[in-house]
Amino acid sequence: MQRHIYLKDTYRFTVTTRVVDAGSGELGYWLTLQDNIFHPQGGGQPSDVGTVDETAARPFKVPETDEHVVRLSCERPFTIGDEVTSAIDPEARRRHAALHTCGHVVDGFVRQLGFRHRVSNHFPGQARIEFDAGEGGKPDLQQLAATVEERTRQAIEADRKVYATAQGDRRIIGIDGLQEDPCGGTHVSSLGQLTGFSLRSVKSKGGVLKVGYVVEHV
Ligand SMILES: [Zn+2]
Repeated sequence: MQRHIYLKDTYRFTVTTRVVDAGSGELGYWLTLQDNIFHPQGGGQPSDVGTVDETAARPFKVPETDEHVVRLSCERPFTIGDEVTSAIDPEARRRHAALHTCGHVVDGFVRQLGFRHRVSNHFPGQARIEFDAGEGGKPDLQQLAATVEERTRQAIEADRKVYATAQGDRRIIGIDGLQEDPCGGTHVSSLGQLTGFSLRSVKSKGGVLKVGYVVEHV
């Protein structure tokens, strides 16, 4: 079984480990590491980028297995059994974790106002959460933006904790005082790690409410 360090420790940026599987295919060479620090794209969060023994590497999920396996595509072949050192870009990891965590917070406060979550995008420069705007006519967007922004700022200032639990084999992420959701992304450990938060756009069209935001890691 592959050990997914990224699910337990957002700030582990490098690990020395063994190649447990390797091959080549449509995407070129690939390998699987015993200990994995790479988050593969999913849940609206982009992939980590990094290296294996200083060769560029990109993670992807192996769809044909039930088990959660993350492979790395690489520019050269590796041999099963080799000991290698893998590393991810710390800046990208911090940025993605900040955007993703803040997405949970914005989502929670918009849901408190009675909107139903549709989809999340945590990509830098595009981060936004979409909701069903519901039956109640066009929402007061200015009021909604002011409320969500103020509550999110207060939650950041209060340095609310972010925690992980499990329900069966599902990983659950929660924020103190807000909702819990199944999630496979990377998160900051408490909201005090977030800085520079603001809502960048709040729009409602065709029954869909879109709330865009910016945030950085301290
Ligand atoms: Zn999450």
